Amino acid sequence: MDATAATDATGAVVGDKLEMFRQLNLLEQHRVESFKDWPFPEQSSCSISKMAEAGFYWTGTKRENDTATCFVCSKTLDGWESDDDPWKEHLKHAPQCEFVKLGCAEKDLTVTQFLEILGRVVKTSIEKNCKAFKQSFISDNENSLDKFTHNK
Ligand SMILES: [Zn+2]
Repeated sequence: MDATAATDATGAVVGDKLEMFRQLNLLEQHRVESFKDWPFPEQSSCSISKMAEAGFYWTGTKRENDTATCFVCSKTLDGWESDDDPWKEHLKHAPQCEFVKLGCAEKDLTVTQFLEILGRVVKTSIEKNCKAFKQSFISDNENSLDKFTHNK
């Protein structure tokens, strides 16, 4: 057994998992890193770290840089003010969100709570992919059927 190879293999597996977590914005650290731009400094109530703690990742653009989305309920909020509290805004606009209902930062979640959130996020992601697949399947077949009927 080549010890180096084994370490590399483990590293690759862990790397893949983290990459999946990153795509889902599952980890607070990844949400922090998603902010490429943000109009508020670290000392404001809705700083990047407080936004990420409350479940938000950046979905802004260069022109509208104050847009953020929840990684669990997908609620998107913009027009933030520097004294807005991300947890309060989250609860106000998406009281049904599983994450905001727990109301605690990632570091305070129990493993069970974290796994429930993980399950929810993965389920939502799968549902979204299935929906997109179904839509493209329908439109592809509609196009084929149109072509077929026009050729008749
Ligand atoms: Zn949410």
